[in-house]
Amino acid sequence: MESAKQKIVIAIDGHSSCGKSTFAKAIAARLGYIFIDTGAMYRAVTLCALEAGAIRDGEVDAERVVGLLPQINISFRFNAERGASDVYVNGQCVEPRIRSIEVSSAVSRISSIPAVREKLVAMQQQMGRDRGVVMDGRDIGTVVFPDAELKIFMTADAEVRARRRYDELTAKGDKVTLEEILENVIARDKADMEREISPLRRAADAVVLDNSRMTVEEQMEWFMERYRQIVG
Ligand code: C5P
Repeated sequence: MESAKQKIVIAIDGHSSCGKSTFAKAIAARLGYIFIDTGAMYRAVTLCALEAGAIRDGEVDAERVVGLLPQINISFRFNAERGASDVYVNGQCVEPRIRSIEVSSAVSRISSIPAVREKLVAMQQQMGRDRGVVMDGRDIGTVVFPDAELKIFMTADAEVRARRRYDELTAKGDKVTLEEILENVIARDKADMEREISPLRRAADAVVLDNSRMTVEEQMEWFMERYRQIVG
């Protein structure tokens, strides 16, 4: 662990399903940093909206979602088995449910509601105020921590990303097809990049990591080189 060194903020943004969380989690473990999966927070709000009936037949009632926000208390608790934090809503673990295809299909619409972003961005800034965090998402280097010392923009071929997500979901027993996953990955990228508020884009000072043909070990080596350039 390198925790005695200067603590920085590491912002990891990029396309859907390119392994940002796996990468961020490994970095946090290596450095003794806190890992924050901001996508899980948008997914948690989406799950609440689905359960409250604020999304019906794919139609989002944004006003109702905004009305639900004060009752949605999101927190993280470390799960030693996973080596990462699980997401809780009002004290209830929602971790496996937020990864379903229903949530994945609706989350981009929920994350484009300005009041949702305002609430979650404020929480994320609070969580990283003492630095020593690895945060992954879509707008970390551009909006949440524009002053992050190290910004990484991750991407990979859409087919490679869909296959990884498919393997992950089917291993858990979810009944999904590779086609619907690929469609979801492409649609989410498009929605995330084209939305008006905090669209997904590479910060001018972010370094690009295309991991289509890289192992986790190779990505870590790539990362440590950049990290040492900054922290020494
Ligand atoms: O990272 P993950 O794929 O779990 O994120 C789910 C969705 O949450 C994204 O497709 C995006 O719409 C939204 N999101 C966001 N801003 C973030 C993190 C995620 O808009 N910082």
